[in-house]
Amino acid sequence: MTCTSSAPDDLLFRAEQGGCLSREEILELLSLNDAEHVEHLYRSADRVRAACVGEEVFLRGIIEFSNHCMNNCRYCGLRRDNRQAVRYRMDDDEILDLAEAIEDRGCGTVVLQSGEDLHYTRERMCAIISNIKARTGLAITLSIGQRPFDDYRAFRDAGADRYLLRHETANPELFAELCPGRSLEDRIQCLRWLKELDYEVGMGCMVGLPGQTAEDLADDVLLIRELGADMIGIGPFIPHEETPLKGSKAGDAGMVLRMLAVIRLVTRDTNIPSTTALGVLDGDSRMKAFKAGANVFMPVFTPQDCAKRYEIYPGKGDVKKADGAINDFREFFGAMGRPMGKGPGGRRKRP
Ligand code: SF4
Repeated sequence: MTCTSSAPDDLLFRAEQGGCLSREEILELLSLNDAEHVEHLYRSADRVRAACVGEEVFLRGIIEFSNHCMNNCRYCGLRRDNRQAVRYRMDDDEILDLAEAIEDRGCGTVVLQSGEDLHYTRERMCAIISNIKARTGLAITLSIGQRPFDDYRAFRDAGADRYLLRHETANPELFAELCPGRSLEDRIQCLRWLKELDYEVGMGCMVGLPGQTAEDLADDVLLIRELGADMIGIGPFIPHEETPLKGSKAGDAGMVLRMLAVIRLVTRDTNIPSTTALGVLDGDSRMKAFKAGANVFMPVFTPQDCAKRYEIYPGKGDVKKADGAINDFREFFGAMGRPMGKGPGGRRKRP
């Protein structure tokens, strides 16, 4: 694609005003490669973030409560066939205690995350959810993969507020290749169910997957817009040694930031984290994301011994844990004039 020097400025102006972008226009923004235009893209996204969701940065405390998974995604260190992974499951009391610690540290949301682990049955998850609701004022986000509609309904009835289910890639062939036995169609059906059940719904994709094109990334943006995601997580692909994709090239941090900025311009008032994966690939980019459209920070509260084993990608278990990370970010946000958000910080404003 060729761009005249003025075309990106016109396009960025229209994007910032909320114009509906075509696939070609999204692709053009993702393909920006001169420093001046890329900086302009980040600044536009940052202004839209300020106008649509404000200056506050909201904290979501993550508990990775099980690293068992029945799936075999080719990029993931938790995949079923990774015999090197040392597996763990937390008991219900441990999860509840961590949720209380998350509230004590000033987070308004707990994210309960695991591999697809049916050991946590519908009934057991409902008990965990309702006990957290009884003992804290936290909003609850679930990130436990694909489940039947009735499970999603039961979790919602028990008090779950939000659900993260990344679509990973909008290219159906690539999805099928990366997630054996799964289809993009089924993943999208789950996302539609979650919307129907009135969850705030999170989607997201990886950037830099082997075989992924810039056009695929533009399609990710279109799918996120079409399904009306409330939260969007964008992270780089990072190859894991114990997976079939070992030795592949990692995603590019610059492309992650451009995706994040474009998604902010397209989706306006959504919640967009600066992801842990981006920080593992490049610490500076994790910070830069907060100047390119991000408004959410997700500190990990998983105890160190378990966190080290929740290695979806290498280096993930080594990220600074909650207290240290919150202190670092508090300083960084303070310097930027961005206050820590109070309360759950959902897209849907509560009275
Ligand atoms: S990406 Fe999720 S579903 Fe796939 S193997 Fe990893 S934990 Fe399991």
